[in-house]
Amino acid sequence: MATLIKTVRCKLQVGQEEASILLETMSRFASACQDIREVALEHKTTNKVKLQHLCYQEIKTRYGLQANLVIRAIARVAEAMKRKPRKVRKFRPTSISLDQRTFRWIPEKESVSVSTHVGRLVLPVQIGNYQRHLLAGQNPTSATLVYSRQKNEFYINIVLSTPVPDPKGERPVGVDRGLKNIAVVSNGLVFPGGTIMARRRHFRKLRQALQKKGTKGAKRLLKRLSGKERRWMSNVNHVVAKRIVESLKPGDILVLEDLKYIRERIRVSKKQRADMHSWAFGELQRFVEYKALERGIPVVYVDPRNTSRTCPRCGHCEKSNRSSQAHFRCKSCGFQHHADLVASINIAQRAGSLAMGCRHTALKARRMKLQGIARGADARAKPPDFSPGGL
Ligand SMILES: [Zn+2]
Repeated sequence: MATLIKTVRCKLQVGQEEASILLETMSRFASACQDIREVALEHKTTNKVKLQHLCYQEIKTRYGLQANLVIRAIARVAEAMKRKPRKVRKFRPTSISLDQRTFRWIPEKESVSVSTHVGRLVLPVQIGNYQRHLLAGQNPTSATLVYSRQKNEFYINIVLSTPVPDPKGERPVGVDRGLKNIAVVSNGLVFPGGTIMARRRHFRKLRQALQKKGTKGAKRLLKRLSGKERRWMSNVNHVVAKRIVESLKPGDILVLEDLKYIRERIRVSKKQRADMHSWAFGELQRFVEYKALERGIPVVYVDPRNTSRTCPRCGHCEKSNRSSQAHFRCKSCGFQHHADLVASINIAQRAGSLAMGCRHTALKARRMKLQGIARGADARAKPPDFSPGGL
């Protein structure tokens, strides 16, 4: 069994007095982090054990924090400095890391118990059925307490680890990501990008107008707008990822293009460039990977170069194989198909030839699949008619 980490965000019910206690603890935690950073810099180390030896006792007395809060502060500084050594300058008093000694989930009360500088606080969480379902039967041992200054609210992000089946499979299924189509799966699933692109243009126009205005009110609106767009985009990515993973069968391997190539590979007009550079492909990838692993479906990444100009039947690679944005026609053997689907098949094939070392059987299977998609029509003669993926 493999494990998968998931974070559940819950809003906390906090009274005025409790709020000031939490804020004070956060402030002490942040100051502790700040001091630990100084020690780390002075002794040129990001090793947790070393830091603990160097400053644990002193920090604990200085800030009157519970032992494990100091340990978490040390861990946080060490990790942050390992990741971005130069960027870590200031720790803000907006969150605390908690572990099994400083945090407890109390299911019968739907509350959490949290250590503060004055002892434990038991705080009820406001959750819906979604969170309740995720938390059911769990015994979480790690969480982060977060304060949102903007909303003046406290949240707890509870970390859950769920056992999932060990990923295994032998049939590669490729996903081609782009703009005209957000995603095309080699099993025939297509997510057209038209309506999405229109919505993004709408957002961009609004944004430009507000930027031109430049007033204080416009800036505020701009901020709200960007949040709105981000949430919408995230939601689209969730839906797409969910449908992609639902379309897979046991035994499938999900093959994605290595993201570091995606921007150079997708060729777009100047007008489209702005659309592309801000589409959250990375987010879509994270969602897809997560949901696939949840079902025990392995995810592999391949180099997508030339996947849109190579013929999946004869292997001939030429730029003009792709006669238009939507259509692929092989100059050598005449194979024709929906261009993005061809790309997704090539992506699947790259993993296939890697994993199985057997191109031919893989290719045969795919050709049968292609005809299946074309609903019995000759896949070579006529590209299939894709109905919209229903976003
Ligand atoms: Zn060909």
